[in-house]
Amino acid sequence: MDTHTKLFIPGPVEVSAKTLAAFARPVIGHRGSDFVKLYESLQGPLRDLFQTKQMVMLSTSSAWGIMEGAIRNLVRERVLCCMCGAFSDKWLDVAQRCGKQAEALQVPWGQPITGAAVAEKLATGKFDAVTLIHNETSTGVLNPLAEIAAAVRQFPNVVLIVDSVSSFSAVPIATDELGIDLLLTGSQKALALPPGLSLFTCSDRAFERAKSVEGRGYYFDLLEFKKNAEANMTPSTPSVSHIYALQSKLEDIAAEGIAARHARHEATNTLVHDWVRRQGFDFFAPEGFRSKSLTCVANSRGIDVADLVSKLKKRHRLAIDGGYGQLKGKTFRLSNMGDETVETVGHLLACLDDCLAT
Ligand SMILES: *Cc1c(COP(=O)(O)O)cnc(C)c1O
Repeated sequence: MDTHTKLFIPGPVEVSAKTLAAFARPVIGHRGSDFVKLYESLQGPLRDLFQTKQMVMLSTSSAWGIMEGAIRNLVRERVLCCMCGAFSDKWLDVAQRCGKQAEALQVPWGQPITGAAVAEKLATGKFDAVTLIHNETSTGVLNPLAEIAAAVRQFPNVVLIVDSVSSFSAVPIATDELGIDLLLTGSQKALALPPGLSLFTCSDRAFERAKSVEGRGYYFDLLEFKKNAEANMTPSTPSVSHIYALQSKLEDIAAEGIAARHARHEATNTLVHDWVRRQGFDFFAPEGFRSKSLTCVANSRGIDVADLVSKLKKRHRLAIDGGYGQLKGKTFRLSNMGDETVETVGHLLACLDDCLAT
């Protein structure tokens, strides 16, 4: 009997049997021609997904590895950290621990970052880098990336570092067109792979910057990644299993079509939003800035969120999240990331109805 609890938490998300089977394939050596072929074969599909002409690089680490790496490689002196929730707030702390000067552009949790606020900070001339989380997973806020990127691009010496861990492949991100210098994502959220891999791409400006920055370390040195990627390899032994899983996922994405994948997320997200309204809850994020891949529901009805989470697990073997950090109990989060469809999200919502009724 299958007794596993299906994940509708906003990461890690449910991994399909097909992906897990790919993950379990026999390992190959990472310096042989089979690996080179494998790595090379992923570049076309990955560049399409990243909307870039740059190489897409693979790191055997969770997203924070590349988030920290971005700081260590790209911040010369002082970074502006756009902060609107748990993940984006943490970046300030990480930058400081890496010995960089860092300043917060903080908005209350639940609110988005604006291009105007970023431009105003950068106009001081104090910053050489900006960190931004596209989709703040803790609050369900989707930041206006195009507007913020346009603001940063008024300052040619400022590099823009963007985390798209929970939005990548769920919504389009025009990496090259927007002038994003480093776009990163993780494996276990929007891509629905097992946790432990991250993917990223760098602009020429980013590589140029890295050359002039001391203390890049080794494991996350972007120039090591570049050198190896040019030979279709990774600097150190990668999780080959993840790369097989990624290959399988890219086949799925090609079969569905990228535009259809975006449309599916739009449709499942709309379904959740309709449910929120029907059940008389509010949204934690304001209209116009709501994530397309997860919904942060404001507990405006004052229900016992922990009880709902535990009932859903016991009765239906489905896992949702009962609110992140300071939002525990005040919100709950429903994910429609990865492989979820109108049918599977519909099932989740019917089960939630059941648990809220009795
Ligand atoms: C989950 C998450 C992270 C952290 O990812 P790890 O894989 O735990 O390193 C970073 N950013 C966002 C937006 C996330 O949702």
